[in-house]
Amino acid sequence: MSDLRELYQEVILDHSRQPRNFGAAAEANRGARGDNPLCGDQLRVSLRVRGGMVEDVAFEGSGCAISMASASLMTQAVKGHTVAEAEELFERFHRLLTEEEPGELGDLGKLEVFSGVREFPIRVKCATLAWHTLHAALARGDDGEVEVSTE
Ligand code: ZN
Repeated sequence: MSDLRELYQEVILDHSRQPRNFGAAAEANRGARGDNPLCGDQLRVSLRVRGGMVEDVAFEGSGCAISMASASLMTQAVKGHTVAEAEELFERFHRLLTEEEPGELGDLGKLEVFSGVREFPIRVKCATLAWHTLHAALARGDDGEVEVSTE
């Protein structure tokens, strides 16, 4: 397990130091702000959604390594997928982090690096912030900007 843990830590450090899709999505038509006052993580997710597809997604903001890495990996995981797939992935990721025995979750790819966070309930909010913000942006509909808070 220790090798796996090390690998997971490397992925998290890599993505927090060099976040992918950092900035604003081009011609964005969805957006939301996320706030995790417990840790001080603040971010904004913007998307361009067309025909039920997440054509582009990006985030900006600041926070702890877990929140930044999670946002970075979230954008990679949902870009080019349908809105339905993004919502389904959010649901599985949330179960991975919050359920004692999540059961069969299927392949979560790199998102599995956050499985260890489950042991640290305060950190769960850091790891899910970008996803809650994504969910709020998608649920809002056209040209909306909403705010979500983990509190
Ligand atoms: Zn945090």
